[in-house]
Amino acid sequence: VNAITAVIALGVVLTLMQVDMASYHQLEGEMRRALARGDFRLHYQPQVDPSRRILGAEALLRWFNPDHGIIPPAKFITLAEETGLIVPLGDWVLRTACAQLALWAEIPATRDLTISVNVSASQFRQPDFVPRVREILAHTGADPSRLKLELTESLFVRDPDVAAEKMSALRDVGLRWSLDDFGTGYSSLHMLRNLPVDEIKIDKTFVSRMASEEQDRAIVRLLIDMCSTLGLFLVAEGVETEEQYRLLQAWGCDGFQGYLFGKAMPVFQFSRLAEAASAASTN
Ligand code: C2E
Ligand code: MG
Ligand code: MG
Ligand code: MG
Repeated sequence: VNAITAVIALGVVLTLMQVDMASYHQLEGEMRRALARGDFRLHYQPQVDPSRRILGAEALLRWFNPDHGIIPPAKFITLAEETGLIVPLGDWVLRTACAQLALWAEIPATRDLTISVNVSASQFRQPDFVPRVREILAHTGADPSRLKLELTESLFVRDPDVAAEKMSALRDVGLRWSLDDFGTGYSSLHMLRNLPVDEIKIDKTFVSRMASEEQDRAIVRLLIDMCSTLGLFLVAEGVETEEQYRLLQAWGCDGFQGYLFGKAMPVFQFSRLAEAASAASTN
């Protein structure tokens, strides 16, 4: 009876795996075609300062699928990493964001804005990551000081020295490094001390629990103080209410991102927002 159960169980597992593998390859093929067809787009989510002035945007990837509508990155980034498609996709994201920076540089209302780009671990680990980014900057003519690259902490568990070298090489070109989702992974103070990091983004889970949980409030305040002591720029993610914004402002947070200021939007809409804000401030 045990042997039969085992065989049945194995059969079920294999069937599930086959289904999985089939849809896996199907999805991979669809993503390749989507990249070639231009079905990926970047949306831009505003980041503001303590006086609600727009500092820049985080570029967030969207897949416009003819059958399934807009597919969010949570549905395809992992697969893109596993299949290696993240490399050409990540290249495309960087090129598109840098080309946008170069366009914005021509317009007074958007000239000073920054763009933050998410870089996945496997993309960053490519041996030619540094020359690739340099090439994209040179090719698009983007000002590197307007570009921020976001990494997550998990990346530094393996080969922190290699990571630090790559980061320094690109920082020498003038771009800045941001640690995304801070506090959710293997955060270590040693890492902060030794990596050429410019900015930290407190994960939205802390921000959303701030109002109800004393502990989360304490962690956020501690991070704000730590960043100001270490000279790091601190951005709070997932700011959704005026109360969260007010508290974070009062404690000395530097940058803010969240639905309170706007969701990720198409570039024309973001540019319009920036132009309206700029016109209002000069009147
Ligand atoms: P992330 O880099 O931490 O980006 C912030 C995510 O939080 C975005 O989700 C954004 O839409 C969402 N968000 C912003 N404000 C709020 C808020 O007030 N409340 C809530 N509930 N959510 C908010 P999104 O666009 O779905 O992206 C999810 C993740 O996918 C990103 O997290 C990032 O890790 C990854 N991702 C997005 N674009 C790219 C990309 O171009 N390359 C790579 N490698 N990863 C990307
Ligand atoms: Mg990010
Ligand atoms: Mg992230
Ligand atoms: Mg994040």
